[in-house]
Amino acid sequence: LGRLYGPIGTLLNLHVEVATALGVFQRIFEYEDMEAEVADAPTASELPAAAGHIAFDRVSYAYQQGKYALQDVSFTALPGEVVAIVGPSGAGKSTLIGMLARLYDPTEGTVAVDGCDVKEVTLSSLRSQVAFVTQESFLFHASVRENLRFARLDATDEELEAACRQAYIHDTIAAMPYGYDTMVGERGHRLSGGERQRLAIARAILKNPRILVLDEATSHLDSESEAFVQAALDKLMLGRTTLVIAHRLSTILSADRIVVLEAGQVVEAGRHDELLEREGLYARLYRTQFAKALEAI
Ligand code: ATP
Repeated sequence: LGRLYGPIGTLLNLHVEVATALGVFQRIFEYEDMEAEVADAPTASELPAAAGHIAFDRVSYAYQQGKYALQDVSFTALPGEVVAIVGPSGAGKSTLIGMLARLYDPTEGTVAVDGCDVKEVTLSSLRSQVAFVTQESFLFHASVRENLRFARLDATDEELEAACRQAYIHDTIAAMPYGYDTMVGERGHRLSGGERQRLAIARAILKNPRILVLDEATSHLDSESEAFVQAALDKLMLGRTTLVIAHRLSTILSADRIVVLEAGQVVEAGRHDELLEREGLYARLYRTQFAKALEAI
């Protein structure tokens, strides 16, 4: 998912005013080139408060001409559903989730939220309704409080703290040298992968979007940290449409739909039991990757 890091920087374009208001604008500039890869269409309208219906319709994407990272990908997620994306490394999972917030636009096909082509709505209205939670979550060289408030400028200190409690990160912040005023990010207090992820969860709680995009990669986490992250994520997903690059057995078992990608194409889709019966790529992935989690229990 590291490759999303650059494009996620483009998300920050939206927040220039916010960032200026927070006095962190200068600092963002130090770390992000602010180059936009996508822009509002001249006729773009505001995406109305989303119900959270997602539809990928024959989406293809090529980073380089003729070399498709995604090819003819179609699936839907109904409001409140969890769609798990699984597939081998390089299958196109990160590329796919990035399309939902228009980090990239399809080379062919459409991505729609509540029936609106995401290319036809303003980036700000789209991205205000989609939250990304990954370990790559961006931290400004600013205080923890500023980093959190970036998700919602008018949040009170009490709301920030409540979100952090829900994300199981409050105690960690409270124990930092200056609590919520501790500087983090480049040259600031170092945060672990799990702490960054929980801060991203707290941001998502503050933002309260209808659509969540998660990468469950938990490779950097110790088991205690992982348990906290999982508990916070489970709560966060309730009642929201979630697109998740799934690494946890419990996520794939409970997903409403599993989309199996291989070399940029959807090779299978369905629920866990249906896919196991097909004895295809999912069944193989399940036995090699996910079933290991069972043995560990
Ligand atoms: P992983 O599980 O390893 O994170 P993934 O399933 O998320 O992989 P993607 O990162 O979406 O896969 O990559 C899909 C394909 O697109 C790969 O062949 C990858 O090399 C290519 N790719 C990804 N990002 C870029 C980029 N910025 N420029 C060129 N090719 C890219």
